[in-house]
Amino acid sequence: VQLQILGSGGPGNAAGRASSAYLIWVDGVARIMVDTGSGTKDQFHLSGADLADIELIALSHLHPDHSAELPAILWPAGGNFQIAGPSAGGLFPAIDQFLAGMFDIGGVYPVLGERTSFEVITVPVDGSEPSRVWRANGISVLARSVPHGDVPTLSYRIDIGQTSIAFTSDQNGSDPSYNDFVRDVDLLVIHLAAAEDVVGRIAELHAKPSVWGQMATAANAAHTVVSHISTASSEVLAGSLQIVRDNYDGMLTVAEDLMCVELDGFATEGL
Ligand SMILES: [Zn+2]
Ligand SMILES: [Zn+2]
Repeated sequence: VQLQILGSGGPGNAAGRASSAYLIWVDGVARIMVDTGSGTKDQFHLSGADLADIELIALSHLHPDHSAELPAILWPAGGNFQIAGPSAGGLFPAIDQFLAGMFDIGGVYPVLGERTSFEVITVPVDGSEPSRVWRANGISVLARSVPHGDVPTLSYRIDIGQTSIAFTSDQNGSDPSYNDFVRDVDLLVIHLAAAEDVVGRIAELHAKPSVWGQMATAANAAHTVVSHISTASSEVLAGSLQIVRDNYDGMLTVAEDLMCVELDGFATEGL
């Protein structure tokens, strides 16, 4: 089992990193894609994954840096996909409305609707109870809502045999009960977006580095991957990483686009 990072960047200037997207490889086949952020179409093709092998596309939320590349990735092959995403809230449509607005006749890409069909799994974001999203062939996917300002947002936990990986997605880290959802995972993917001195709207949306480190510690995560890097400054990034490390003693890896992380043995290799 491997995690491959297609995009390790966040919104804004991320120094060439594509935005959020991940593949789960099992026995050499890319079976699950989490997020389809802007800039990840080329990374998807560079990864060598085959769209026909993707059994589940799981979107965490509908910010463009997590969802905007979906039509480009599905174009031109199309296919039939199971796709999971959050229910509606505030300015954001539910995942089924989002897909209809994009691919139905009258939507913005009806040409893709002609060759693409979806089985949509709409995950409620109205509480802290985990929802079972999907299960097949020894893989179990759970989701739980996380506090990301007023944006309906899901964290996914994927258990494959004896190994487990969780994607925090974007969140401000203000819900301590969330730690139970990611307890004892082998691999925790966190979304660094804010510096320690963040205030205002960004602080409502994104956790500080110290909060991420404390979350990884509370969850007892064996290995934490820092992704969604949202600064072009290597000094700012280094400062934030030091604060994460000050609060977490486990193995820490800084994500790079196309990097693969082994879940059974924790060796890391770039492609
Ligand atoms: Zn984001
Ligand atoms: Zn976001």
